[in-house]
Amino acid sequence: MSPSIQKIAMIGLGIMGSPMAVHLANAGYDVTGFDLSPQGIEPLVDAGGRAAGSSAEAVADADVVCIMVPDSPDVKAVLTDEGGVLASAKAGALIIDFSSIRPDVTAELAQQAAGLGFRYLDAPVSGGEAGAKNAALSIMVGGSGEDFEAAKPLLDVVGKTVVHVGPSGSGQTVKAANQLIVAANIQALSEAVIFLEAYGVDTKAALEVLGGGLAGSKVLDQKKANMLSRSFEPGFRIDLHHKDMGIVTSAAREAGVAVPLGALVAQLVGSARAAGDGNLDHSALLRGVERLSGLATSTSTTKEN
Ligand code: NAD
Repeated sequence: MSPSIQKIAMIGLGIMGSPMAVHLANAGYDVTGFDLSPQGIEPLVDAGGRAAGSSAEAVADADVVCIMVPDSPDVKAVLTDEGGVLASAKAGALIIDFSSIRPDVTAELAQQAAGLGFRYLDAPVSGGEAGAKNAALSIMVGGSGEDFEAAKPLLDVVGKTVVHVGPSGSGQTVKAANQLIVAANIQALSEAVIFLEAYGVDTKAALEVLGGGLAGSKVLDQKKANMLSRSFEPGFRIDLHHKDMGIVTSAAREAGVAVPLGALVAQLVGSARAAGDGNLDHSALLRGVERLSGLATSTSTTKEN
């Protein structure tokens, strides 16, 4: 535990924010949480944390304000709305945005926060719900080296691979690359599963042997059960991956580099969303391959394993 950090506010207690807040409370930090929906607060309170009635109340005496909400407009609202973090937190507080949002929005918000005397890190994460639950996230951090060192003990509580990747916004750029790699992998795995099933191969056995060779990946390890049992409860929602594919394709365009595979997968993610699968886990890209192959789409959304 860091001696200068005792009180933590966590804004956003969804699939990722809730288990992260619980780990911080279990590590001995004094954690106060707030979410627009009351759902995620119970595990934090059970772990000894406190529930706030607004983000202003949650951040009032916090040394560190953590944010874990869906998208750029949500982070903007949390920070800059009336009664938001920038108007309510104490001077010098360290803001850590764990959400995956646009790098340019991050840079803007970090500048605005610095102008008001706050410190700011972008710290998007990878590792999925399992990574959040097991405190095994990869955390890619943008901001000053000094703020990174101050935050490191806290980040080590929720993450296993915690790396400072550059100045403000860099964490978000690395996360955009992460999402390109993950989406392409899930799409390839989905196509392989449908291909194997078309030949009547024992798909479970096939994925076991593929997992031990060069085709093995964390995506295969973490998503094969969803695909085999057609269980697409999130996890990571297709809607959120659609947001991330928008971030990486437009950032690549602005940089003048080509991401042709990324652009194709972005279309397939968008198509899954348009077909009504936005609230399913991203492993449900498999259903898109079923649609393209003229197969009936599987409907189960419950985890069986
Ligand atoms: P989620 O939808 O489960 O949770 C987000 C929470 O934020 C919701 O409970 C919502 O009510 C709350 N919220 C939104 N606006 C708010 C506001 N103004 N004030 C207070 N609370 C607010 O989403 P998630 O899956 O936890 O994802 C959060 C972020 O983490 C996203 O940017 C996502 O891309 C990223 N991420 C998710 C995963 C994953 O596997 N789920 C993995 C890595 C990164």
